[in-house]
Amino acid sequence: MALIVQKYGGTSVGTPDRIKNVARRVAKFKAQGHDLVVVLSAMSGETNRLIALAKEIQANPDPRELDVIVSTGEQVTIGLLAMALKEQGIEAKSYTGGQVKILTDSLHTKARIQSIDDTAMRADLNAGRVVIVAGFQGVDAEGNITTLGRGGSDTSGVALAAALKADECQIYTDVDGVYTTDPRVVPEAKKLKTITFEEMLEMASLGSKVLQIRSVEFAGKYNVKLRVLSSFQEEGEGTLITFEEDPNMEKPVVSGIAFNRDEARINVIGVPDKPGIAYQILGPVADANIDVDMIIQNVGQDGTTDFSFTVPKGEFARTIKVLEGVQAHVGGKSVNGDDKICKVSIVGVGMRSHVGVASTMFRTLAEEGINIQMISTSEIKISVIVDEKYLELAVRVLHKAFGLDQAK
Ligand code: ASP
Ligand code: MG
Repeated sequence: MALIVQKYGGTSVGTPDRIKNVARRVAKFKAQGHDLVVVLSAMSGETNRLIALAKEIQANPDPRELDVIVSTGEQVTIGLLAMALKEQGIEAKSYTGGQVKILTDSLHTKARIQSIDDTAMRADLNAGRVVIVAGFQGVDAEGNITTLGRGGSDTSGVALAAALKADECQIYTDVDGVYTTDPRVVPEAKKLKTITFEEMLEMASLGSKVLQIRSVEFAGKYNVKLRVLSSFQEEGEGTLITFEEDPNMEKPVVSGIAFNRDEARINVIGVPDKPGIAYQILGPVADANIDVDMIIQNVGQDGTTDFSFTVPKGEFARTIKVLEGVQAHVGGKSVNGDDKICKVSIVGVGMRSHVGVASTMFRTLAEEGINIQMISTSEIKISVIVDEKYLELAVRVLHKAFGLDQAK
């Protein structure tokens, strides 16, 4: 008998029938003798609908009131699931974040969890009830409703599992696990049985959207055993996110290929090569609240240097504007860029112990005539920026080159 936290995403609770399905799955685990805490998202599309509604009244919605509004989506699904379980003769009780007391800071729309009171949940579990908790929301010290940022119910699930010291946190979604890459791009993509936390963090930050990145960080920090599964399949073990590489398993050097279409490249040419330049260029970009990703500065020559970095596509025009002001000030030659680019990355802890991974990547891209515009690496990842029209091709050939078509 184990204590299991199960989190179901928006598509898994998108209709009354699907909610009944979730109830059946919960009932099955309950019948096996497990204690269950179920965390739910709002019905798919509901959070978007609520945000749009708020914006019809206030173009820039008041953050406190926005949280009051968007938190209702999850309040609906938890009530419905509790009813569906009762219909099946199972005792269940729903809780909003505030009722549990998931205490957060007061940063509305992107609050962070500070503590979770498990008293009431424990009492229900001990009485044999299934506990159902609204994801995505909490309450601050003053009693204001807060939300944790889009996709935040993953984090709610993991945080509850940590607080309750659950044996496992199962994230049910519309895919049956973590894949070597997006199967829509590479039909040969394979589901991974396991992936390490480090790899999962890289995959998530590089644009693979199976889990909210904060939830992975949280699980890593609190040692939560995390598993991603499909709510549309009866059986299946999904993908287990592990802390250690399994030494008994012959793992491929590269575990997955991630990509991100949402990037634009910016170049600042011919700026003086002297202390403070990076700060003078990137400071104003950060002040404008623009997220900078890959940053490259070249070795200076003749007293000047070039500076390149990437930003989200939607921020391209704004970034150029900010930099034109900066350029006049620091005395660079020109600012230019390209928003028709993408980032393709290979990820794998096996890279630590293997040489030649980068050269295989570069040769593979060269053989297809794909020009690499920027390169950045970490211990377990190599990312390249290429023309966005090559995205599918690059991902496909790399997937093959690193043997992922055959991985299991
Ligand atoms: N319903 C919220 C959202 O759409 C939270 C979640 O689903 O994780 O962002
Ligand atoms: Mg989600």
